[in-house]
Amino acid sequence: MSTPGLKLLFGRAGVAGSEEFRDRFAGRRSTVASAKDPVCGMEVDTSTDLKFEYEGVTYYFCGRGCKLDFEDDPEKYLDPNYEPKM
Ligand SMILES: [Zn+2]
Repeated sequence: MSTPGLKLLFGRAGVAGSEEFRDRFAGRRSTVASAKDPVCGMEVDTSTDLKFEYEGVTYYFCGRGCKLDFEDDPEKYLDPNYEPKM
């Protein structure tokens, strides 16, 4: 699924007050960015190479096992009813 709402938000921010937005964004990026491993639910550093792009969204993983599982069946882990577990 794409996220049109998010695109709209970024698009508008890009037009009005872009300097402030970029500064704030840059400030956030200086701290360690993290994302949630969709397979096990762990917080992972987005600087990892263990990532996989699916339908325009990049997902990050704690390890090869989780990444391979996700690649195998992304829909299973993106299902809202899926409960991440170790
Ligand atoms: Zn994991």
